[in-house]
Amino acid sequence: MGSHYRTGMITCANCDTPQFLQITQSRVYFEDGEMINEISETYECTLCGSTGQYAYDDDRDEETVTGDVTLTKERPKFA
Ligand SMILES: [Zn+2]
Repeated sequence: MGSHYRTGMITCANCDTPQFLQITQSRVYFEDGEMINEISETYECTLCGSTGQYAYDDDRDEETVTGDVTLTKERPKFA
């Protein structure tokens, strides 16, 4: 834990908040057994049931999200 790879906030596209998201699956791929090469996380919103995936590619320093989640660089909007 304590990774600092993520630059943004994962939010539920439906609820527009990260409050109810939980990680249901997390995979980390290592390069040379040491450096983190790729990260894949599956999220589920416990409020509306939406699911989505977050992936981080260290080679390209690129974050991508698919499904019903969005990646925002801004501060989350808490009610
Ligand atoms: Zn939701």
